[in-house]
Amino acid sequence: MRVTAIYPGTFDPMTVGHIDVAQRASKMFDDLIIGVAGDPSAKKTPFFNLEERVDIAGEILKDLPNVKVMPFSGLLVKFAASVEASVIVRGLRAISDFEYEVQIAGVNRHLSPKVETVFIAASQDYTFLSSSIVKEIALLGGDYSDFVHPRVIKEFQRKIDASGVEQ
Ligand code: ADP
Repeated sequence: MRVTAIYPGTFDPMTVGHIDVAQRASKMFDDLIIGVAGDPSAKKTPFFNLEERVDIAGEILKDLPNVKVMPFSGLLVKFAASVEASVIVRGLRAISDFEYEVQIAGVNRHLSPKVETVFIAASQDYTFLSSSIVKEIALLGGDYSDFVHPRVIKEFQRKIDASGVEQ
């Protein structure tokens, strides 16, 4: 039986921490779907729109043959059912991630007991890394090239140039 897993997130934008989790998960499961969330409800509006986030992640992960990037909205467990995924992958960086992640995993298990959540521990080098930190550095004109794929830098530049914001 093929096992399909979903790695859901906002990916606003995808960082090397996300890439690391995706690469490791792609080795654990037959198929991995990167689910890019269309409506990150409790959070503020993403910097990159859904189409941009999907496009960026798709280019970055294009060399992983069993990985597919898809947008989704609504309940994650419904999306999991629609693509016949039996596993949800989440990354864990620190204790601060733990409480929220375990709560969400519990809710998803309640909604859909057949779907298991699997946590992948962040690599030591990326435990401090988040999309928010990358956005902050990018918008303040700092060097964040160690934290993202070059495509992300290009996209930030395009948006910053278009907005006419001085750095
Ligand atoms: P969400 O809005 O769903 O938290 P994110 O795009 O911020 O989406 O993160 C998606 C997943 O990737 C989450 O499980 C998060 O904990 C994990 N993650 C984020 N950054 C890293 C990192 N540097 N290393 C490992 N996992 C990470």
